[in-house]
Amino acid sequence: MALIVQKYGGTSVGNPERIKNVARRVARAHAEGHKLVVVVSAMSGETNRLVALAKEVQANPDPRELDVVISTGEQVTIGLLSMALQAEGIKARSYTGPQVRILTDSSFTKARILKIDEDRMRKDLDEGCVVVVAGFQGVDDAGNITTLGRGGSDTTGVALAAALRADECQIYTDVDGVYTTDPRIVPEARKLDRITFEEMLEMASLGSKVLQIRSVEFAGKYKVKLRVLSSFQDGGEGTLITFEEDTKMEQPIISGIAFNRDEAKLTIQGVPDRPGIAYQILGPVAEANIDVDMIIQNVGQDGSTDFSFTVPRGEMDRAMSILEGVKTHTGAREVHGDRTMAKVSVVGVGMRSHVGVASRMFRTLAEEGINIQMISTSEIKISVAIDEKYLELAVRVLHKAFELDQTAA
Ligand code: ADP
Ligand code: ASP
Ligand code: MG
Repeated sequence: MALIVQKYGGTSVGNPERIKNVARRVARAHAEGHKLVVVVSAMSGETNRLVALAKEVQANPDPRELDVVISTGEQVTIGLLSMALQAEGIKARSYTGPQVRILTDSSFTKARILKIDEDRMRKDLDEGCVVVVAGFQGVDDAGNITTLGRGGSDTTGVALAAALRADECQIYTDVDGVYTTDPRIVPEARKLDRITFEEMLEMASLGSKVLQIRSVEFAGKYKVKLRVLSSFQDGGEGTLITFEEDTKMEQPIISGIAFNRDEAKLTIQGVPDRPGIAYQILGPVAEANIDVDMIIQNVGQDGSTDFSFTVPRGEMDRAMSILEGVKTHTGAREVHGDRTMAKVSVVGVGMRSHVGVASRMFRTLAEEGINIQMISTSEIKISVAIDEKYLELAVRVLHKAFELDQTAA
């Protein structure tokens, strides 16, 4: 008998029939004697609908109130799933994040989990009850409802698994595992049986939304056994996120390709080229809690230089107005923004022992006439920023160039 946390995403609970399907799956695991905590997302499209609704009322929704609104989607699905489980003859009880007491910080819309109260869940589990918990939400110290960022139900799942020291955390979704790249873009993408934690962390942070990055961070920190599986197929081992590199197998150079269309580039031209300028530009951006990703500072000429960086597209307007302020401060010449950027990254631990990955990537893109605007690298990834209109082409040609469509030896 094991303690298992199962998480079902939006598509998997997208309508009453699918919720009943989830209930049957949970019932099966319950019948095998496992203790189960089930985390669910809102029905697919629901969180988007709620965000749009909020924006109709307030163009820039107040973050605290936005969380009050968008956390409601999950409250619907926990109740419905508990009912469906009861209809299967199983004792089930649902809890919102605040009811469990998933304590978070107060960063509305992107809160971090600080502590989870496990008493109530343990008590129910000991009584043979399936515990159903709303993903994506928590409560701060002052009792405010918070949400964990888009895709945050994954993080709820893994965090609960960590808190309960569960034997496994199973993320059920609409694909049967982690693929070499998004199978919606490249039909030839292959499912990976295993992926290292480090690679998964890069893939998630670089835009593969199959797992929210924070869920992977949690899994790493608390050594949670994490698996991605299909909620629509039976059987199948899905993809296991492993902590060790498989040294027996010949490593492929690249394990996967991640991409993100949600990027914007900001440039400030003609800033004085002196110590402290990067801080003067990026300090206020960081203070506004805007994530900066790629950064380029050009070689200075005649005492001045240009500085470019990327931010999430939704933050571009805020970042622009901050830069306008910096421009006045520093006497910079010009500020401009481009909201049609995308980022493509190749990821793989095999890169450590291979040279020429970057040149193969750049050559492949050049052959298609795709201009690279920014580059950043780490030990196991290379990312490039390109015009969004070439994104799908770039992913497809890179997938082929690195032979990811061929089965591993
Ligand atoms: P859920 O609603 O279950 O949380 P998501 O839509 O958040 O599901 O994540 C699953 C989707 O992630 C898949 O349908 C797929 O299109 C996309 N995806 C992106 N990159 C990958 C990848 N490398 N492997 C598998 N799926 C991926
Ligand atoms: N419902 C939330 C979202 O759409 C959380 C999740 O699905 O993981 O982002
Ligand atoms: Mg998701």
